[in-house]
Amino acid sequence: MKKWLVRGAAVLAGTVTVLVAALALMPVLEGPLDEPAYAAPPLPGGWPDARPPQALAYSLIHTSTTQATPEALVVAGGRWGTERRPLHAAVLVRHPQGSFLFDTGLGRRVAEQFAVNSAFHRQFFAYEGLAPAADQLAAHGVPVGEIRRIIPSHMHWDHVSGLKDFPDAEVWVGAEELEHARHGQPPGFIASQFDGDVRWRLFEFDGPAYMGYPASLDLFGDGSAVLVPMQGHTAGQVGLFLALPSGQRLFFIGDTTWALEGVTAPAERPWLVRRLSNVDHDEARNRAAIVHVHRLMRAFPELVVVPAHDERVAARLPRFPAFAR
Ligand SMILES: [Zn+2]
Repeated sequence: MKKWLVRGAAVLAGTVTVLVAALALMPVLEGPLDEPAYAAPPLPGGWPDARPPQALAYSLIHTSTTQATPEALVVAGGRWGTERRPLHAAVLVRHPQGSFLFDTGLGRRVAEQFAVNSAFHRQFFAYEGLAPAADQLAAHGVPVGEIRRIIPSHMHWDHVSGLKDFPDAEVWVGAEELEHARHGQPPGFIASQFDGDVRWRLFEFDGPAYMGYPASLDLFGDGSAVLVPMQGHTAGQVGLFLALPSGQRLFFIGDTTWALEGVTAPAERPWLVRRLSNVDHDEARNRAAIVHVHRLMRAFPELVVVPAHDERVAARLPRFPAFAR
C-alpha cells in the first residue's frame, strides 16, 4: 500500500478511536468548573465611573454564521439535541472621538484565507451566509474610512478576517497577542489576514484595576469603553466594557467561552473540542477567566455579557444598521 494511504488510514483510525473514547468519557469530564478553586480578586462595590457622551452608540454587525452544530460541541455540558449556530460578528462602536470595531468577523477575502485549512478543519469550522462588515457599512453609506481603529478581542482567523478591508484603520493589539499570532498556525491563526501592510498600534494596559482585572485601558478617557486583559484563550485576548448613555453596561468577552452558558455554569469548552482543535492557548488561565466573568455576573446581574459567538445573546442586541444608546 502507498505510504500516504497508510498515513491517511492511521490518522483516520486515530481520530475514530479518540472520538469513541471521548464520547464514552464525556459525562465524567464535562462537569462545571470548581469555582472555589480559583483566586477571587476583589470586585468593586459599584459600577466604575463613566461619562458616556450622548452620541455614543453601538451595533452588532453579523458577518456570517457557522453551520448548525450540537450545543454539546459548543460548551461543556451542552446538549447533543440542541442546535446552535455560532455567529461571527463585528461590534461597531460610534463615539464622537472616532468609531471603532471590536473584532471584524469574516471579511471579503475569507474564502482564500480559509482555503489554507485542512479538509477536517474546513468542515469543522465551515461558515455560511457571508456578509462582510465593510460591505454592510458601504451599503448603508458608511465610508470604511469612518472606522478609525480596529481592536480585535484576539487574532484568531474569525475575528481578524476583515482587517484588510479597512486599510486606513489602526489595528490595536497587545505585543504578546501579535507575537502569538505571528507564530501561530491554521486553523487558529491565518497569516495572510495580518501580514504585510497593517497599521499596527501596540498598546499596553496603563490604567488602574477595573472590575477585578489587574489593569485596564480607557479608550476615550471617559470610561465609556474600557479594555481589560483576558489572557488564556490566546496569549493576549482582551475584553471590552461598554457604558452606554442609557446606563446599560455591556461586557464583550471574546472567546473566553463560545456561549453564555459557559460563564453561567461556569464551564469551559467541551473536552472533545479542546482535544481535537487545540483551541485554547492556556486552558488553566482560560478557566480562571471564565470563573471571573461568572463572579462578575453574580455581583452585577444587570451586566450584559456577550461571548463573541453566542447567537442567542446577539439576537437580543441591536443588529446593524440598528444601533442602541
Ligand atoms: Zn478564538
